[in-house]
Amino acid sequence: MKIKKGDTVLIISGKDKGKKGKVLEAFPKERKVMVEGVNLRKKHQRPKKSGEKGQIVELPGPISVSNTKLICPKCGKAARTGYKIFKNNKVRICKKCKQEV
Ligand SMILES: [Zn+2]
Repeated sequence: MKIKKGDTVLIISGKDKGKKGKVLEAFPKERKVMVEGVNLRKKHQRPKKSGEKGQIVELPGPISVSNTKLICPKCGKAARTGYKIFKNNKVRICKKCKQEV
């Protein structure tokens, strides 16, 4: 999977189209990612201690990785990524600026 945890991505389709966020978690098997502030679901959180009130918290839900595009940390553009072999290692590169990302 081309997107990994810690990447900043742009959402390119769905209800959160146009949003940017950091990948909090990647699920390569499901080809899904969880992005900060994207696909928020309200969840009721139970009080941790007695006497405390429960609260509604918004948590991001996983979205398909095909709805995201990496924002290249080198050139700052939402770019497609590719791979190249560099010193016997497979490195991810930005197709716009050809830098390793
Ligand atoms: Zn780039």
